[in-house]
Amino acid sequence: MYAEILIEYPTKKIDKYFTYVIPQNLKGIINVGMKVKVPFGNKIINGFVMNIIDIYNASYELKELIEIVDKELILNKELMDLGKYIHEKTLCPLISAYQTMLPSSLKIKDNNIDFNFYKTYLELNKSKDEIKAYLNNYNKVNKQSALLSILLEKERVLKKEYSASVIKSLKEKELIKEVKEQEYRINKNINKETKKHKLNAEQQNAFDIISNCNDNNIFLLEGVTGSGKTEVYLNLIDNCIMQGKTAILLVPEISLTMQIVDRFYDWFGSSVAIFHSALSNGEKYDEYLKIIRGEVKVVIGTRSAIFTPLKNIGIIIIDEEHSDTYKQDNTPRYNAIDVAKERCKSHNAPLVLGSATPTLESRARAIKGVYQHILLTKRAGTGTLPNVEIVDMVEEIKKRNFIFSENLINRINDVLSKDEQVIILLNRRGYSTTINCSNCGFTYKCPNCDITLTYHKSTNNLRCHYCGYVTRKEEKCPNCHEDGLNYLGLGTEKVESELNNLFKDAKIIRMDQDTTSKKGAHERIIEDFRNKKYNILLGTQMISKGLDFPNVTLVGILNADSSLNIPDFRSNEKTFALLYQASGRAGRSNLKGNVVIQTYNPDNFVLKCVQNNDFNSFYNYEMNIRKILKYPPYYYLVSLKVISKDYNEALENATKVSDYLKKNVNDSSVVLGPTTASLFKFNNNYRFQIVVKYRFDNKLSIALKYLDSIFVNNLKANLEIDVEPLHI
Ligand code: ADP
Ligand code: ZN
Repeated sequence: MYAEILIEYPTKKIDKYFTYVIPQNLKGIINVGMKVKVPFGNKIINGFVMNIIDIYNASYELKELIEIVDKELILNKELMDLGKYIHEKTLCPLISAYQTMLPSSLKIKDNNIDFNFYKTYLELNKSKDEIKAYLNNYNKVNKQSALLSILLEKERVLKKEYSASVIKSLKEKELIKEVKEQEYRINKNINKETKKHKLNAEQQNAFDIISNCNDNNIFLLEGVTGSGKTEVYLNLIDNCIMQGKTAILLVPEISLTMQIVDRFYDWFGSSVAIFHSALSNGEKYDEYLKIIRGEVKVVIGTRSAIFTPLKNIGIIIIDEEHSDTYKQDNTPRYNAIDVAKERCKSHNAPLVLGSATPTLESRARAIKGVYQHILLTKRAGTGTLPNVEIVDMVEEIKKRNFIFSENLINRINDVLSKDEQVIILLNRRGYSTTINCSNCGFTYKCPNCDITLTYHKSTNNLRCHYCGYVTRKEEKCPNCHEDGLNYLGLGTEKVESELNNLFKDAKIIRMDQDTTSKKGAHERIIEDFRNKKYNILLGTQMISKGLDFPNVTLVGILNADSSLNIPDFRSNEKTFALLYQASGRAGRSNLKGNVVIQTYNPDNFVLKCVQNNDFNSFYNYEMNIRKILKYPPYYYLVSLKVISKDYNEALENATKVSDYLKKNVNDSSVVLGPTTASLFKFNNNYRFQIVVKYRFDNKLSIALKYLDSIFVNNLKANLEIDVEPLHI
C-alpha cells in the first residue's frame, strides 16, 4: 500500500503529490486527510495524505513514510475538497490552503509536549463507614482528620489546595487516592439567570423566514445599529441545536466582541467553542479537541474559524459581514464569506450575512434577489437612533479651535455633568502624523517604505505604521540642526492630552493598537468603561464596532473626512460604514444620543447620508460612481502586484505582465497599469500594480495561472495575485 502525500513546503514548484510506502504497522490506520511525517531529500517534513493506493509502478525504490503526526487531527472529505476550492479560487498552493485549515499551532504531540490539561483530585479510598470508624479510633484533631472529614462531606477536593505531607501520610495509610482528570482550559456554564428578550415583530419575522428555510439560501440581514441582530442569531442557533445540528458564527475580532461571546456562553454554556488567534496554544488545542470529540454545537470565531471541522452544520452566520477582517491579506487570499458559501452548499444549510452597513456587493445581490433581503429598521430596546450634527472645522479654526469645536466641547461638558459617557473617535494613532522642520523642510520618513513616520510621544519615538521601523526623535532637526521641528497632523495621543487639558475632572481612557497590545487589554478597557470607571473613551476604529454601552449618549468624531481622501475605490464605503457604526454607539438605551461629526468638508454627500441615517441614498450615490468607474459590484477585480528590491526589475516585469494580460484576456475586460501600488515602497521592495476589471472572462483564469507559474522561477521579482481584492 502506498500513500500520495502533499508536502508542507509552500512553494509552487513542488505543489504536487509524492508517493511513499505505508509501513506495515500503519496499514489500516492511515487515512486520507491525516498529517504525516515523511523523509524528503535529507530532511524530515510534514505532509498531508491525499490518496491511498494499492499499486504503484515506480522505476526507483520508494521511501517509507515515518509516522502520523496526530491521529485526531484529520481533515475530512468536506475540508479536503474545500482546500481544493480555495486553491482554485485564490491560486494559492494547495498545501497553503490545508495549512491554513490545520494551522501548526494545533500541532499536538510534537516534541513530546502533551497539551492535555489535567487537574488532580483527592478522593476517599475506602467506604465512608470505614473512614468514620477510622476517625473514631484515631481520636485526634489534626490536618489529616480534617481532610478526611472534608472528603466525607464533599467527595472530592483539588489536590493542590492541601499540604503535600498530609496527602502523603493519608495515601500511605491507603485512606485516600489521587484521581487525575483531563479538563478544558476554557469552561463555561449556562447562565440560568440570563434575560432572554421576547423578539419584537421585525426580529420575529427575520427568525421565521430564516428558520423556515431548509435549503442553502443566503440571507442579508440588514439591521440598523442596536436593532437586536445578536438576539436573532441566538434564537436561530438555539433552533438549529434543537434540531440536532451545529452552527458557526463568525465575528470580525473576538477581543472586541467578548460582549457577544458572553451572551452565547450564557445561553449555551459548554456547547460553545471559541476560536481566534489570541488563544494560547493550550486553549486552541482544547477548543479543537472539544470540536473533534463532538462536544460542541456552536463555534464562534474569527476568519479561520470557518474551517472548524463541525459535522452536520445547520447554519452559518457572519456578523458585521462588511468587515475587512474576513479577507486574508496574505496567501491564501481567501474570503471567509466565499468559504462559508461553499460549506453551506455542502451541508445544505442557510448562510446569514448580518450588518448595519453591508458591502455594496452584498446589498446589490440582495436587491437583485440573489440573496434574500431582511430588514430590521428600528432599535430593539428602548433606544432610538441618535441625532447627528456636522460641524465645519474651517470656521472653528478661525476661532482657534484646532482639535475640538465649541459645539463638541459644550456637549461633552453637558454629558459629563449628567454623569453620562462620551466616545471620541479619531482613526489615527500616535501623537502627530508628521514631524517636519520649518527651517529646512526636512520630514521624518521611513527609509524602508518612503512614507512619513508617526510620532509617538509616550515612547518619544517615530514609527512606521506599515513595516514597524522605529527611530528616536532628535531635539533639533537632524538635517539642519536648527530648532525648527513642528508636530503636524492629529493622532489619538495628542487628542488624549488635549482632553485632559479641557476636562480636568474627567477620567479618560484611550483604546488603540498601542494601548491594547497585551492579552486581555481590550476586554479590560471595555469592562472598565462599561462599569463607569471612565467618563470618556477615546480610540481608533476599534471602538466603532459592535460595542453596546447603555450610558453613552455622545459620540464625537474628529477628522471625519480623513478617510475619504484615501485613494481607494472603497474609501467612501469605508468612511460611511465607520461613521455610521461609530454613531450607532450613542443612545442605545432610553437615554437620547447625540453625535457630533467634525469635518473640513461639511457638504460632503457621504457625511450627509450619515447625518440622515440614510443608507439608501448613500447606496444609490455610490453605486452610480461604481458603475461609471467600472468597479465592483458592476465589475470583478483582480489585482496583480510585481515586487522587487530592484526598481527596474519591478517595472520591467510589471510591464511584461500587463502586456501579456492585454493579449490574453477577453476583449471586454480592462487591464490597467502598471502603476505604482498604493504603498509603492514597502520594506525596501518596489511594488507595481496591474488591475484587471472584468464581468465575464473565460480566458482570465488560464492567463493568471500561466503568469503565476512563470514567476515561480523568477528570482528577481515576485508576483502577488489577489482575486477579488478588498482594496487596490
Ligand atoms: P445589534 O447587534 O443589531 O447592533 P444588539 O443585538 O447589540 O444589536 O442589541 C441592542 C440592544 O437591544 C441590546 O442591549 C439588547 O439586549 C437589546 N435587545 C435586543 N432585542 C431585544 C428585544 N426583543 N427586546 C428588548 N431589548 C432587546
Ligand atoms: Zn516602513
